[in-house]
Amino acid sequence: MQLSKNFHLAEFVRSDTAIRRGIDNTPNIQHIMNLKFLCENILQPLRDKFGPIVISSGFRSFALNKAVGGSASSQHMQGEACDIRIPSTEKGKEYFEFLKSLPVFDQLIWERLNPQSSFYWIHVSIKRRGNNRKQVIPLLDKYK
Ligand SMILES: [Zn+2]
Repeated sequence: MQLSKNFHLAEFVRSDTAIRRGIDNTPNIQHIMNLKFLCENILQPLRDKFGPIVISSGFRSFALNKAVGGSASSQHMQGEACDIRIPSTEKGKEYFEFLKSLPVFDQLIWERLNPQSSFYWIHVSIKRRGNNRKQVIPLLDKYK
């Protein structure tokens, strides 16, 4: 199922962990509508500007979120959030600045595994309903 011009639902559902552990990661219609909203308002504009981008984590079922150690209130479980792989720190900064300039988003976070890690990614979320906070967190260590 196509979510926007360049994004397909499969990119948001695919998970190595889910496959390896036999976890069901099927979104419902609300989740899919949220993912479509995320694509149309955040990811497609980013893609239009920078070319192909890689989603490292999109939708997570409750079981999958638990398996990957996600936060109990993670927006990944609503289809409201995704993680974007960054090809280089320099490119990541450009992505981040661009995303920050978008009119509507909920959270934008530059994440890494721990303070020693140089493996970074960008987490971005948007809500189809409710208040979008436009909260920007420049650096968050996930597992300290
Ligand atoms: Zn995330």
